Amino acid sequence: MSTNATEFDRARAAMPGGVNSPVRAFGSVGTTPRFFVSASGPRVTDVEGRDYVDLVGSWGPAILGHAHPAVVEAVQDAATRGLGFGASTPGETELAEIVEARIARDCMRPIEKLRLVSTGTEATMTAIRLARGATGRDLIVKFAGHYHGHSDGLLAEAGSGVATLAMPGSAGVPAPIAAQTLVVPYNDLDALREVFAARGDDIAAIIVEAAPANMGIVPPALGFNAAIADLAHENGSLLILDEVLTGFRVGPAGWYGIDPVSFTPDLITFGKVIGGGLPLAALGGSAAIMDLLAPLGPVYQAGTLSGNPLAVAAGLATLHHLDAAAYERIDAASHAIADAAASALAAEGVAHVVQRSGNLFSVQFTDTAPTDYETVKAQDAFRYPPFFRAMLEQGVSLPPSVFEAWFVSAAHDDTAISQIIDALPAAARAAASA
Ligand code: PMP
Repeated sequence: MSTNATEFDRARAAMPGGVNSPVRAFGSVGTTPRFFVSASGPRVTDVEGRDYVDLVGSWGPAILGHAHPAVVEAVQDAATRGLGFGASTPGETELAEIVEARIARDCMRPIEKLRLVSTGTEATMTAIRLARGATGRDLIVKFAGHYHGHSDGLLAEAGSGVATLAMPGSAGVPAPIAAQTLVVPYNDLDALREVFAARGDDIAAIIVEAAPANMGIVPPALGFNAAIADLAHENGSLLILDEVLTGFRVGPAGWYGIDPVSFTPDLITFGKVIGGGLPLAALGGSAAIMDLLAPLGPVYQAGTLSGNPLAVAAGLATLHHLDAAAYERIDAASHAIADAAASALAAEGVAHVVQRSGNLFSVQFTDTAPTDYETVKAQDAFRYPPFFRAMLEQGVSLPPSVFEAWFVSAAHDDTAISQIIDALPAAARAAASA
């Protein structure tokens, strides 16, 4: 019989680390990765037939729950009409219009044009090329601990798997390319001002996670997004707001729609939720900037699978079902789970904070809420692996790294929430005795 252990052995023989994305190897949580064979609503099932309540949600896309019937039906229906044409389809325009309408309704600066790509990495990579094309400048500013995908220029001091593996960046990135990225501590306006004072005329863009979620949750200080938008604009640079993770998750128009201080990004990137679980991402902005893309302008970008009809169908069905009631359910479930995690850890006397950005949250093992990558790294991260394993043993699948957010879906019903809440005290005890 196939087990998680035998599958992992087989996978390691055939693929580097046995995985196609590093965090899936469970290296930092010290247990065998689970190999899943099916999923439905808030649950995933592994090759051994064990069910888990899932708080990974495919790292964000499964916001309606796994295999939501309407999404599956939309994909099946699209598949019967052809898997892809390498030509335009009406669905792509419909998806662009829906995204543009959501942003226009809730945000200061609407998105006038959107381009669909297949991954978040492509969206941010293209946004950066576009910012360079628009400004005629080369330098990019990113923040330590933020993750924007795995393109060469964006891996320095990156969050997510790069943080989990404690890598400073990546081998294979030529030094002249790495030198085009200036890394600044997050939530530190003075450091950013210094960088602009020194190099402002050469900076094409600041790229920022709208509400950082790839070093765990570290909310922007009040007014931070507005201040960096102003600083960028005063210096003739652009602001690229990366909403690949937050977009259409934390609210109908993403973080941009709920940031308590209004600001105006020039380009916004989306991924995850917008594709409903299939490979689809996007970047958008004003017509003046977006029309610099080929075929209208000099900035090249293309994709064989861009706007794939199955992915578009999944995205359209997902956004259609993400109404006010769905966000209310996600918010309520996420608050209940976050509160229960905090209570369980408090009951065991484990130093912790639960940081939240809308319905996204994560547990950090420290007394003082981290505000940047350095303070995130200073937490008692060794408490997470036993906490994670205790949850897994009780049938709850958490993200396999303390540097990741917990993803709650609209399908997390009372039964699923109770199962998570009931598992937390034993996990808190495991964290306490680490
Ligand atoms: N930006 C952010 C904020 C992300 O969270 C991610 C992925 N977690 C990416 C970009 C890259 O997206 P992808 O993995 O689809 O390339």
